[in-house]
Amino acid sequence: MDVQRKLEILADAAKYDASCASSGTEKRDSRDGKGLGSTEGMGICHSYAPDGRCISLLKILLTNACNYDCLYCVNRATSNVPRARFTVDEVVKLTLDFYRRNYIEGLFLSSGIIRSADYTMEQVVSVARKLREEHHFRGYIHLKTIPEADDALITEAGKYADRLSINIEVPEEASLAKLAPEKDVRAIRRTMGRLRLKLDEAREGRKLTPKGNTAPKFAPAGQSTQMIVGADSASDQTILNTSANLYGSYRLKRVYYSAFSPIPDASRALPLSAPPLLREHRLYQADWLMRFYGFDVGEIVDETAGMLSLDLDPKLAWALRHRDRFPLDVNRASREDLLRVPGFGTKAVDRIIATRRITSIRAADLAKLHIPRNKALPFIVLSDHRPSPHVLDSAGLAERFKPKATQLGFGF
Ligand code: SF4
Repeated sequence: MDVQRKLEILADAAKYDASCASSGTEKRDSRDGKGLGSTEGMGICHSYAPDGRCISLLKILLTNACNYDCLYCVNRATSNVPRARFTVDEVVKLTLDFYRRNYIEGLFLSSGIIRSADYTMEQVVSVARKLREEHHFRGYIHLKTIPEADDALITEAGKYADRLSINIEVPEEASLAKLAPEKDVRAIRRTMGRLRLKLDEAREGRKLTPKGNTAPKFAPAGQSTQMIVGADSASDQTILNTSANLYGSYRLKRVYYSAFSPIPDASRALPLSAPPLLREHRLYQADWLMRFYGFDVGEIVDETAGMLSLDLDPKLAWALRHRDRFPLDVNRASREDLLRVPGFGTKAVDRIIATRRITSIRAADLAKLHIPRNKALPFIVLSDHRPSPHVLDSAGLAERFKPKATQLGFGF
C-alpha cells in the first residue's frame, strides 16, 4: 500500500479524536538557523472532525489496527474498515515534508494498540524521538499515551512531546466497562496520576535550575483528555463532575468533549443518532465557567434536570435562575461578581476594572468593551442606566434570549 493511501486511511481514522490543540506550550522556533519548525503561528494544514471543527496539526494514527474492541470506536478489532499501518520513518518523513511545505505546525499522533501496550508506545515514542533528535524538529508534538505502557516509555514520551493525553473516554466507570471492556479505568487514572507527578517534578526542576542551564523537560503543554458525549446516558452534570474531578486530581490542561458520532456497523449498545452538536458546545462553555469564571458544577447545571439548557448559554441560564443577585452595579461590583454577568468575558472584566479607576462606565462604553448590550443591560447598573425592575422579574426575559426554533442548529 502506498503512503498516500495509508495517509487517507490513517488521517480519516484519527478524525474522531478531539483532544488536540496546539495551545499552552513553551515558545520555540528555529530562527537561529538551528533545527526545524516552530510552535508559534497559526496552523496551516487542517484536519476536520465530523462536526466540522478545524484542527491545525498533521493528525494521524500510526495504525488503525487494534487488539481492543471498544464499541464506540471505528477502529475496534471487529470493525469492517480498511486497515493500514505507517512505519516510524514514514510518519517522520510525512511530518517533515508537510512542515517544509508550510502545511502544518506540528503532529498529533495516536495509534490503535497492536501486539502490546509497550510495543505500540515504543513505536509512537520512536517517531517523536527521531523528529526531535535526528531532525531537530521544533514544531508541536502531541502524543496519545497508552495507559498500560511502561513508565520508562511514558517518561521518554514526555521528554519529546509538548503535550501528552490519555482518553478517559466516558464519564462513568460502569459505562466504560460496558462499552470498552478491555480498558481499565484504574490504569487510566493511575497513568494520569503518574503524568501529573512528572509534570510537577519538571516544574519544580525548572524553578531550581540556575539561569542559563537547561532544565529537564516533561510535556510543557501538560496533559489533556477526551470524553465522548452521548455514547452513554450520562447527564451533563455527571460529565462536568467528572471533568471537575479530573482537573482537580490530575491538573489537566483541558478536557475535550467529543459528541458521539454514529459509526458504521455500530453495536446495539450505542445510540442510533448523535447527540445535538449544541450539547458539546454547551459543555465547553460550562467547562470554561468552571475554569475561568469561578463557577462550581452545582451552580452551572440545574440539578432538577441534570442537563444544560440547549437554548441558553450556561452563564445566562444561571443568571436567570438567580435574578435576586442582579442588577449589579458595574462601577462598584467585585471582579468575582462581574464575571457572573451574562455577556461579560474575563478580558472585558479586566478592562472594566481598569477603566472605572479613571471614569464611570456608561452604557455607550459597552461596545468598546465588546460586551453585547442586549444580553448584559437587563442585569447591570451603569452610571446612566438602571433596568426597570419589571424587566428583570418578567417571565418573558428568558424567552427574549432563546433562539427561534428553526435557528437551533446555528446557535453558536
Ligand atoms: S483502544 Fe483506542 S483505537 Fe483501539 S478500539 Fe479502543 S478506542 Fe479504538
